[in-house]
Amino acid sequence: MELPFAESYKIKMVETIRRSTQIEREKWIKEANYNLFNLKSSQVFIDLLTDSGTGAMSDKQWAAMMLGDESYAGASSHQNMKDAIKNIMGFDYFLPTHQGRAAENVLFSVLVKEGDVVPGNSHFDTTKGHIEFRKAKAIDCTIDEAFDTNNLHPFKGNIDTEKLEKVLKQYPKEKISFIVLTLTNNTAGGQPVSLANIKEVSALAKKYGVMLLFDSARFAENAYFIKTREHAYANYTIKEIVLEMYKYADLATMSSKKDAIVNMGGFIGFKNEEIFRKACTYNIMFEGYITYGGMSGRDMNALAQGLDEGTEFEYLETRINQVTYLGNRLIEFGIPVQRPIGGHAVFVDAKKLLTHVPKEQFVAQTLGIELYLEAGIRGVEIGTILADRDPVTRENRYPNLEFLRLAIPRRTYTNNHMDVIAVALKNVFDRRETIKTGYKIVWEAPIMRHFTVELKKI
Ligand SMILES: *Cc1c(COP(=O)(O)O)cnc(C)c1O
Repeated sequence: MELPFAESYKIKMVETIRRSTQIEREKWIKEANYNLFNLKSSQVFIDLLTDSGTGAMSDKQWAAMMLGDESYAGASSHQNMKDAIKNIMGFDYFLPTHQGRAAENVLFSVLVKEGDVVPGNSHFDTTKGHIEFRKAKAIDCTIDEAFDTNNLHPFKGNIDTEKLEKVLKQYPKEKISFIVLTLTNNTAGGQPVSLANIKEVSALAKKYGVMLLFDSARFAENAYFIKTREHAYANYTIKEIVLEMYKYADLATMSSKKDAIVNMGGFIGFKNEEIFRKACTYNIMFEGYITYGGMSGRDMNALAQGLDEGTEFEYLETRINQVTYLGNRLIEFGIPVQRPIGGHAVFVDAKKLLTHVPKEQFVAQTLGIELYLEAGIRGVEIGTILADRDPVTRENRYPNLEFLRLAIPRRTYTNNHMDVIAVALKNVFDRRETIKTGYKIVWEAPIMRHFTVELKKI
């Protein structure tokens, strides 16, 4: 008999979590103005709000923290991080930042000007925020297959090279800040980009004299999908694939809270010394001196160790198998999800599930609230609230897809938790015909409204 699959680690430390009652949850979600971000973590049983900074560090990461060098300048922890980034991604220059959006803020201060365009594959919300804040425009060139949740394309994060070339032809290169490739494509469902697509996009970037930036939060999960789905790379190690991917990148912004498995941290990777030097000034202004940039020495040490662990095949196999396990349980129950299942989360197709709730009443948000009421599970809306208003017309933007994202923290929950999530969602699915109305906005911020929006039940 073939041995079943098991996690590639055992548990050394645990944290208590608590179930609640339906009556408690009804009260709490109302007090939170029906915004799941406003709940206290003690009001949540299984927290799938994000996989960002919520992972469990390893014994070796905790040990590395004890060896953190807290010198203001030239700390050995900075050198450790520099070595890890050079060995794993191949960048000669880097700047630490306190998280991914800080990396965007520093780098975009150098490269994004008013009136610019930034083509890419479904820009992440903070990436888009930092582009639009500078009065530039993000242009989505993701392949159409990404928007059909039943299409089994293995690389739904890919850029449509025809759409991209149209943009590159339409604007002079001075108006194009860079092309951004999001690895994996979070907004489209944690979907990977193939190495073949990376090479095509890089060739176009070179042809038109434009730089290529990798938004790298889940680069290792992307490499795992390349290894398991792109035949040419089946015999490469994850680290070899990562090096091959980054051959084609001029720049990288990284949220280390994802695939570097730390609770806080980020960085910018550069190949060009001149851009690095310009960014140093902004890093000092916004983040901190260039050898710590908003991170303590201990955090830089944990990050360096996490980059190494996060690019090991056994770890990634455990990680992605758990996400796939949850996805497959939902599929067995007939619940509509984005397929193939992505790397860090299961994306539930809310419009197919709650067919009676009008789009003006925020379908995915409604589903997220129902799942919380059912079992104290906190997911997040990737839909109309996140898509925000058009910066010019101020009308709501209705995206093609309304997702409830169930993001799985790394090395944190067991498959028993996955079973609870699956059954809770099945219970919501079974009573879907009775859910006919959603929510309306009573207060919202002018930009990135989803974090603080206040809603009322209709
Ligand atoms: C999380 C994330 C960011 C922003 O990083 P933070 O660490 O949350 O600031 C940017 N891009 C992508 C693709 C991300 O997933």
